Amino acid sequence: MSGTATKLATANPVEPKPKLRAVLVEDNQLDAQLVLRALKKDSFEVSALVVQDEGGFTQALAADPPEIILADYNLPNWKGMEVLNVLRREGLDIPMILVSGALGDVTAVECIKQGATDYVLKDSLSRLPEVIRRALREKNERTLRRQAEQKLAHKVDELARSNADLEQFAYVASHDLQEPLRMVAAYTQLLSERYSGKLDENADKFIGYAREGALRMQVLIQDLLAFSRVGRADLAYAIVDCNAVMREVLQTLDSAIQESGAVVTYAGLPSVWADHTQLTQVFQNLVGNAIKFRGSEPSQISVQAEQSDGKWMFSVRDNGIGIAPEYAENIFVVFQRLHARSEYPGNGIGLSICKKVIERTGGKIWVESEAGVGSTFKFTIPLEGSTEEALTQGSSTEEKKS
Ligand code: ADP
Repeated sequence: MSGTATKLATANPVEPKPKLRAVLVEDNQLDAQLVLRALKKDSFEVSALVVQDEGGFTQALAADPPEIILADYNLPNWKGMEVLNVLRREGLDIPMILVSGALGDVTAVECIKQGATDYVLKDSLSRLPEVIRRALREKNERTLRRQAEQKLAHKVDELARSNADLEQFAYVASHDLQEPLRMVAAYTQLLSERYSGKLDENADKFIGYAREGALRMQVLIQDLLAFSRVGRADLAYAIVDCNAVMREVLQTLDSAIQESGAVVTYAGLPSVWADHTQLTQVFQNLVGNAIKFRGSEPSQISVQAEQSDGKWMFSVRDNGIGIAPEYAENIFVVFQRLHARSEYPGNGIGLSICKKVIERTGGKIWVESEAGVGSTFKFTIPLEGSTEEALTQGSSTEEKKS
């Protein structure tokens, strides 16, 4: 009966039962009736197509994909397990239960490994409804999980797109604003040079404010540009020795260290797989901040690293003014500061650059702090990519005091 299907429908008018669309791959009409009876007796209002071969099965799928497929293992013109190949080819996820006269345990396990959902022997058909219910439940859970994953992937895509748009906007805005701003700054400078003392006192004051505003805006725009460049720069990944990075940073910050009397220590830092320039920016911003936001005590700053859960975890600890917990996340946002510029200089860009660099490198950054006691900035860098030699450097000790 190649390519043909017989429609069998059963219904129980007394109790409303869940509807079930099934395809039976079965050559024996009597067995098909027994299967349907077992389903009807227990719990389903079944509408089923009975097919015997690949042609009939493909037609049944095309007509109306069923919720469940019940397939005999041995058929004269086909094999029950071939159902799975057709489903894969059609990209369909429909549970397939083998209903067979005899199926040894070894064969049954092999069939399940290959993708059959379950199997029921023909002399235990009373098990069939429960097996079907479980298969449908699992299929439903799979669908929900897949939908949730798709939603998440979509959100991640959207977020990446909107981040890229924002970055592009920040770059274009800050880049293109530089030119007109340069004009404003140049002409307010000219105004103040040519007319200072020649107009009235207010005019001098106003020109001074305009000039200050233009200069500050120039700095802000340069910072914004620096921030957007971090995300756009091509990363030159290499093994970076963090001890060498710290030596560079201490040199750059030398005058601030001398002036503040800060003591900076670092010990046995590892080599990591990162972009040298950007990682240096991170250490420089964190150590620079630790010096800048010092308290009344002599400044003690310590930089350390330890391995945990497949990553390096770095910490930059200070005994400075600290940060109240409610600001612990805000401070990583562009231009967010907790103090007036007159108290502590800066534009609030350093930590947002650190965050971007660390996230691009595959890590995370956060702060643990208590106001008035000190702060510990922590960040992670994945171990992967680091060489064996780089990893063992973590056990050597190098200490530097400034
Ligand atoms: P900036 O240093 O220019 O203000 P950052 O983005 O580097 O910008 O830091 C943002 C804010 O986070 C700082 O203004 C300060 O309020 C807080 N902060 C950063 N580092 C420290 C620190 N080590 N101790 C206390 N506060 C800090």
